[in-house]
Amino acid sequence: MAIRLFLFVMPTAAYYTLGCKINQYETEKIREKLERLGFSTVSFASPADVYIINSCTVTGTADAKSRRAIRQAVRRNPDALVIATGCYAELEPHSVSEIEGVDLIIGNEDKDSIPERIAARFPDIDPNNDSVVLPRVRTRAIVKVQDGCSQFCAYCAVPYARNRQWSRNPDDVINELRVLAGFGYKEIVLAGIRLGSYQPSLPDLIRLAAEINGIERIRLSSLEVWEIDDNLLSALSDSPKVCRHLHIPLQSGDEQVLRLMRRPYTPGKYAEVIRKVRNAVPDLGLTTDVMVGFPGESQEAFERSLRFVEEVEFSRLHVFRYSPRPGTKAAEMPDKVPEADKTLRSDKMIELGNRLACQYASRLVGKTVQVLVESKRAEVLSGLTDNYVEVRFDGSERLRGSIIPVRIDYVNDDGTVFGSIRGGES
Ligand code: SF4
Repeated sequence: MAIRLFLFVMPTAAYYTLGCKINQYETEKIREKLERLGFSTVSFASPADVYIINSCTVTGTADAKSRRAIRQAVRRNPDALVIATGCYAELEPHSVSEIEGVDLIIGNEDKDSIPERIAARFPDIDPNNDSVVLPRVRTRAIVKVQDGCSQFCAYCAVPYARNRQWSRNPDDVINELRVLAGFGYKEIVLAGIRLGSYQPSLPDLIRLAAEINGIERIRLSSLEVWEIDDNLLSALSDSPKVCRHLHIPLQSGDEQVLRLMRRPYTPGKYAEVIRKVRNAVPDLGLTTDVMVGFPGESQEAFERSLRFVEEVEFSRLHVFRYSPRPGTKAAEMPDKVPEADKTLRSDKMIELGNRLACQYASRLVGKTVQVLVESKRAEVLSGLTDNYVEVRFDGSERLRGSIIPVRIDYVNDDGTVFGSIRGGES
């Protein structure tokens, strides 16, 4: 195979992924396969022979970003093969096809066929020879174990784009994890659109994953609050490999708004589950999604949501402004919130989120934590603690991919956390 590398210039492929961890996993699978076939990966900002945009439709902003990325790809190389896939391409193929220069629009169910369809357009690529292995630093790998959702929350288009709810066979997942451990990945993220609905058993899968040598951290992508039970909590607390971090979407801290959203819990129930989780997992990093400006969210309801978020003391918030998704229940609902109010509410919620993040990180000052070193930018290394705090510190590039002790020195006003390496590492 090495000979082949000298005989022709490897074609280049660039990737742009929007949205959830499932999209990230699926892009990664396409990239891996294309690299094995002989495509080299370049930055999305560079001219490339192939562009793959894995789109998202979770909000109007995600739609707009997906369209923008497609147009950017066409501009960067008008002769490139431009492929749009993902949930926006799945639900709005007509809008995507109106963008001049798009060559292929491929739905979620057909994503697996993308590498072969690309290879077929490059005569120098042999689709039966996928043996090129390019060196790379291995840090965290996302592993899709579940896909699809049939919950139909009133605002969400995901069930229309990924309706079929299914789980991967546990043996298949464990085999993939063993391969990833062999490649040197230290952390794996078990991911699903509705990870908590994994069948036959998420707690059993976590326990099996924790037995794999080489994997030092297991992180869960996101869990719905109604999916958390005592068995899952004991799986989280049983193994020190399981990260002390959970992402549990709240969406609103107001009971009436939750009902309108068709979310099957109340703020009281949410708080009760969080108390249990914190008892089982001390020092938990708890992150969440909060939506502002859902139809019918009065100013008072928003204030209640804000107070609830403050009381729960999340360690990080992802704040979304509601935008109507075509075909969803909420798109037809009355009492729309004016855009100006959504902006004010979003700013207030983001401000609270930043304050809570600083508060949470400040508790670590003076402590030594374990950090998985991921990137080096402007001479500064950065990485994540198991409870999902990003830490920056000076050190050598060769530390990328390892888990090392770092003392937390201080937290900036903007929430950036700085530390210094401990224990002779440098
Ligand atoms: S649980 Fe609700 S918000 Fe989450 S993917 Fe399903 S429908 Fe969307």
